[in-house]
Parts: sequence; C-alpha cells; structure tokens
Amino acid sequence: MTALHGFEQTRQRRIDELDAVLHEYTHAASGARLCWLEREDENKSFCAAFRTLPYDDTGVFHILEHSVLCGSKQFPVKEPFVELMKGSLNTFLNALTFPDKTCYPVASRNSRDFLNLMRVYLDAVFFPSIHEKPEIFQQEGWHYELRGGVLTRSGVVLNEMKGAFADADELLINAMNRALFPDSPYRFVSGGDPEAIPSLTYEAFTAAHKRFYHPANSYLLLDGSIDQDESFALLDGYLSQFAAIDPDTQIHAQPPVRAERRTIDYPLPAGEPMQQRWKLGCGYVIGTYQDAQTLFAAQVLSDVLCGSNHAPLCRAILEQGLAEDVVLSCDEQCMQPNLLLRVQNFREADLPAIQATIRDTLTALCENGLDREQIEASLASFEFKLRERDYGTMPRGLIFELEILASWLYGGDPGQRAVWRRPRRPPVLQRGVRRSARRHRHRIL
Ligand SMILES: [Zn+2]
Repeated sequence: MTALHGFEQTRQRRIDELDAVLHEYTHAASGARLCWLEREDENKSFCAAFRTLPYDDTGVFHILEHSVLCGSKQFPVKEPFVELMKGSLNTFLNALTFPDKTCYPVASRNSRDFLNLMRVYLDAVFFPSIHEKPEIFQQEGWHYELRGGVLTRSGVVLNEMKGAFADADELLINAMNRALFPDSPYRFVSGGDPEAIPSLTYEAFTAAHKRFYHPANSYLLLDGSIDQDESFALLDGYLSQFAAIDPDTQIHAQPPVRAERRTIDYPLPAGEPMQQRWKLGCGYVIGTYQDAQTLFAAQVLSDVLCGSNHAPLCRAILEQGLAEDVVLSCDEQCMQPNLLLRVQNFREADLPAIQATIRDTLTALCENGLDREQIEASLASFEFKLRERDYGTMPRGLIFELEILASWLYGGDPGQRAVWRRPRRPPVLQRGVRRSARRHRHRIL
C-alpha cells in the first residue's frame, strides 16, 4: 500500500447526502487516525480530538484544555490563542471539553491561514509548555491566594466551575449522570467538581497529558477543499515524533440500571423563598450510538411530546398548574444517548401528582397513539434542518466533524451519522413511547 506522508488509506467512499468523499487513514508509526471529508467548501476546517475519559471529578481534562493553549514549543508566547484571534482570518477557533473527549477545532477560508492555525494547534496539543512551566497549571487549575489576609483557593477552571455549580440544572445533570452511569466514566463531572479540583496534583496533571494527548489516542479530522499534500505533511511532521502506544482508553457500555430516586440540594440566591423551587429530572438511556434510527426517533419524540406548551406532556402538567416549565432534551454526543425530562419549579407536595401525570399521559399516548399531524410536522422540520444544514456562524465542516466523532470515537463507522435518513414512521416512534413509558430498564425517575 502506498502511503502519503506516513498516512495509509484504509477506506474511501462517496457520501451522496453531503456531496462528499469520506477518506479514512491511519498513521502507522504513531497510531494516529485521520478522517478527511473531501467536499467543495472553501471554509476548510481541522479538528484534533482526544478520547479523554474522566476517572475522577478533578476536571483534569478541562484544566488541560485551558492549559495547552497557554504556550508551546514553537509558540512560547503566553497566549497564542488570544494572539491568533486578533491576527488570523479564522472563521472558527475554539477548544471544547466534552464528557468523553476534548476537541480543538479551527476553520479558515484562507489556505495559508488554515495551515498556520493547524500548526499552532498541533504544537499546542502535542508540545505544550505545561511540562516546563508548573505556573500554567496553577493559573488555569488552582492555587492558594491571600485575599484580605485570608488564604483562599483560586484558578481559572476552579472559579469557572464554582460558577457552574451554582446552577441547579448543572447539578441536576451531574446527579443524573451519576445515577444512570454508575460504572462508566460518564459518572464523573468532566468540567471538574469545585470540591475535587484542589486534589489534583501537578504530577497527575502532566501524566494525564502524556497518556491521553498521545497521537495513538487522537482522532484527527479535516474537512473541505484542503491542500492534501501540505496538510498531511504538516500532520506527519508532528505525529512522526511519537511511537505508537496502546493508550488503553476503550469506553465500555454501562449495563442497564434501575436507579432509585435521589434528592439533592442546590443553592438559591440569598433571600429567595424556597417554596415552589423543587425540580424533577427523569433520565432514560435510549440505546447506543449505533442505534441511529432510535436516536432520530427520540429527537422527533421529544419535539412531539414537549416541543411547546401545547405538546401533550407539557400541557398535561402545565394545565393543572403543577409546575412552571417542562423540558425534554436528548443528549446524543455520548456513547449511550439519553433523554432527560425536566420539570421546573413546583411545590414539594405536588411531586406525586406530577409523577402520576407523566405516567398516565405516556400510558394514554401508548394506547391511543400520537397525533399524526404533529408527527408529520416534527418530521418535516427535522428533515428541513438536515437538508439545509444551516448552523449559523458555526462552519458546516465542524458540525460534520462532530457528527463523525459521535460514532468514530467509540470504534464505530465514521460515516454513520452523515447518512441519517427518515425513520420508518409510526412503528419506531410508537415503540419509542411505549419503551419510555413501560418497559424501560435503564432509567431514573
Ligand atoms: Zn473552561
């Protein structure tokens, strides 16, 4: 097999839905993988992603995400990221910590600028200054500080997460993940729990970088009309400095659990009355990343059941004046996508009535069926979104790259999400409701 700059092509296929060709490669020497979605698009994008599975609540990967952008071997200036924002023609530049991955996406219409951005990001993730400068960890993670004669802890991520933990929804989602995924990395708070962040040492922090930011644990993505020769040569220049290892970062699916109800406290602003401030969250794991049709159906179902105040599940609760708001959301950026139903702001005494209403409404919908017109309307709106693929200021290529990661990161087919089609109607949707209402084994209510 011929290799281009160390990359051996393992698969190539046309994806008509995206008017593109998806190429898959491996960089044998370093163990890196690469997907290139070749499309006519001047807005080229690159994303370096790593499978970062939390093993505690210290937020180590969130602190790494901040820290690697604070200087690197070739770009030792303190904040290349900020400098880049000012001088580059980029159309997107960011870094994101997810519950199971960390992504460094960039996009630009200008070829020189694009290669320059790739170089800065590759240098940052593979050769950050964090190993020589412990002060980066202290600044971005945590450190002691004397404030008005009092010793306190501070740090960019620590302070950010203190803010996040003041939000009831954030706490509810964390509690939900602990309950639904008790044996999986998803039980941990990837952003970091302010209580746990100060237990992270500098040594553990740099060791996590060495293990998880290795090419063998990386998922590299290119999209658009890139210069293949130059881009691959640039990547090879970085990757070939590493020898392949086994990073041992497989994600194992969480077996179904029937979690018990649990109650957690959350802070209210000073002086705010406590009445009618209860919140309820019900979580349902709907399958795995491979169940593309179920996932599509779950999204349509969320819209049909709770898309507006007139949707049946919302209406049933709101009409009785039991709560202020009802939201049903679908988390699809993980190995086991799940639905989360949130009922906001009610009185403790109304909890039994709310639970009975949810159960009765779903049971009745199973027996009598969903409103077909509503299903058609929701399907049409999803199809329109899929066809238009209008993501506002977010470059399309980056959305495609995230869709590729939604199966590729778990060992699945990188092209799976790109070819989503309309689900076989009513049967799949009806079954979806029935499952949620009755036989669902993997849930917390
Ligand atoms: Zn952050």
